[in-house]
Amino acid sequence: MSSSGLTVLDYKALPKIELHAHLSGSISRQCLHEVWLLKKAAGETDLQDPLIEMPPGKHDYDLKTFFPLFSSYIYNLVNDAPTLRYTTLSVLRDFAEDGVVYLELRTTPRAMPAAGLTEADYVQTILDTIADFERSPEGKTLRTKLILSVDRRNTAAQARHVLALCKQFQRLGVVGVDLCGNPAVPLDARRLGPVFEEAREVPGLGMTLHFAEAECSGGDAELDALLAWRPDRLGHVICVGERVRREIVSRKGVGLELCLSCNVHAGMVRGGFESHHFGEWWKVAGAVVVLSTDDVGVFCSPLSNEYALVAQHFGLSRADICGLIRNGLDVIFGGEEEKSRLRDVLWEA
Ligand SMILES: [Zn+2]
Repeated sequence: MSSSGLTVLDYKALPKIELHAHLSGSISRQCLHEVWLLKKAAGETDLQDPLIEMPPGKHDYDLKTFFPLFSSYIYNLVNDAPTLRYTTLSVLRDFAEDGVVYLELRTTPRAMPAAGLTEADYVQTILDTIADFERSPEGKTLRTKLILSVDRRNTAAQARHVLALCKQFQRLGVVGVDLCGNPAVPLDARRLGPVFEEAREVPGLGMTLHFAEAECSGGDAELDALLAWRPDRLGHVICVGERVRREIVSRKGVGLELCLSCNVHAGMVRGGFESHHFGEWWKVAGAVVVLSTDDVGVFCSPLSNEYALVAQHFGLSRADICGLIRNGLDVIFGGEEEKSRLRDVLWEA
């Protein structure tokens, strides 16, 4: 029982919105293990068992160990269409079981040449899996949209291709574009800026950016460049000084996707949960804070637990929690029809 009087089970029952979840990072260790067993039996992999590679209980992945986990392990296991479908379905099921009613999943389009998949096939496979899940009985409470991510390392041509895919699949459920990737990689805003400025002009396409995730990506030049792209939402918002903070507030209604467990376990904030910047932001008029998980497969704190954590560490009441979830509705990318469905679902809770 937390200070707000809600049990963990109640947080699960509460209909929730998740806006910052990476597809590959949201795959549970158990699901990866199941994939590995199948591939091992078929003689298709030499990789180590995921339960050894990522031992249960290990959550302290930092900037040095987090990104290699994907490039040298998870991407090598999830390397064909059947596995992509299987893992996507497992992620959708996990969010639905946790009481998420609206989900924006994000992913960097990834070709799988050995399996004959192009980036477009990759996106199509995920969208097909989402559609299949939504038609199934277990998927009837969750609606899922897709955000396509540009990686900081991308060339202008690669970024332009991501934007082209956003436009190609917009009608089928792609609702936004993201900037993601290792914050230790310097951002070349002159290279990627024109692509995001073009994305800004695409009707109905939202824009979210990983923002000030680490000190190395929190310099004035980078943050000013990112804000000049006029994003609708910002992810993490950890290393911001007073001037940038005032700039964010002055824009009124920018969504802030804050991820507590990820930031604390990865050592991106100092001082544990109590000193997480959620405490500074959640009451600020002009900002819309949306609690999110980032990579629940790695950090193992489902969204219901993130709400339990803010209740515990910042004293939010049940009314505060419901208010927080409902405010998030203002910054979803899913359109008016989805907002009106969610109004019914969230105000009933
Ligand atoms: Zn993220």
